[in-house]
Amino acid sequence: MTKTVQQKEKKLKSANVPDKMKACLFYGPEDIKYETLETPKINENEILVKIQSAMTCGTDLKTFKRGHPVLIKTLPSAFGHQFSGVAAGVGKNIKNFHEGQKIVAVNTAPCFNCFFCKNKEYSLCENLEFLNGAYAEYIAIPERIARHNTYEIPEEISFEEAAMLETFSVVMHGFERSEISPGMNVCVIGAGAIGLVFTALSKLAGANVISIGKSLYKLNLAKELGAEFIISLDHFNEQRKELAGKVRELTGGYGPDVVIEAVGLPDTWILATELVRRGGLVNFFGGCKKGERIEVDTYRLHYDELKLTGVFHHTPYYVRKALELMKDKNKSREIFKRLITHRMPLEKLKDAFILQESGKAVQIAIIP
Ligand SMILES: [Zn+2]
Ligand SMILES: [Zn+2]
Repeated sequence: MTKTVQQKEKKLKSANVPDKMKACLFYGPEDIKYETLETPKINENEILVKIQSAMTCGTDLKTFKRGHPVLIKTLPSAFGHQFSGVAAGVGKNIKNFHEGQKIVAVNTAPCFNCFFCKNKEYSLCENLEFLNGAYAEYIAIPERIARHNTYEIPEEISFEEAAMLETFSVVMHGFERSEISPGMNVCVIGAGAIGLVFTALSKLAGANVISIGKSLYKLNLAKELGAEFIISLDHFNEQRKELAGKVRELTGGYGPDVVIEAVGLPDTWILATELVRRGGLVNFFGGCKKGERIEVDTYRLHYDELKLTGVFHHTPYYVRKALELMKDKNKSREIFKRLITHRMPLEKLKDAFILQESGKAVQIAIIP
């Protein structure tokens, strides 16, 4: 029985796909190994992709430093989730893709069947399965993602740019749920890839942006992407009151209409609730460690009518919207230029994370 299945699977592998491939596996915090592995095999509902570019992101850096409770379940683990490439094998039930096509996919797809999916809250799907393994020569896209969250790469964008689809998708989701409109004052805390795309999208929407971050290198990128003001957190250290005063001063004495927290630390979550104006909205976009808590002033919550919301991940709708935006080079060109700061070969993945941790890189294209 197993033998037949394997033979069937083998048949589905394209003739010129090698049996072995190079890949980086995650063995534990700061422990990555570049190895030779079996090339993944696909069934009739899956797609095998020969990766042309993977992309590091903040989540991967977090994982590199401390592991990840959701993404990494067993060790050693396949690693990396942003990629683009060429279809090297297409299951016979997949009708809308063919071998040789340039394709990009994101790392999950909802089940469309659970309580939350039926409620159209797809990012809360109870059955999200996270695809890892972008730091490799080949990756198999599982059925659900192949069906709902895989696209042909538009001619306008390169493999490296396409590999940023997940970054754009999550921000598109967070952005649309932040109720930003022209003329608003928006404060983005965090100047990593996510914070920078929030800054760019807010600017494109006609808002005035204040970017708060640590690394001056990245704050300058925020400025290039349209932030009117940049503020270094290091400069204020523990003097949060002064920081709040400075931000109020820059926003007509009231504070920002919208504050986006794109860091994922309790301190900056609290800061976000302190900065926002009366009646304003805070989007807690950066996920903290499980179990972490913050205190919120009830007076502000009730009498100042703060709107506090968390937004997580992406949905197929926002993936489509993200791809549309990426195709529009008038809007996306500057973002790609600022965010893809480096390019490194797969075997140097560990060095890429060390560089990213130094604050002198944003997203690094990893080329197998
Ligand atoms: Zn990511
Ligand atoms: Zn679901």
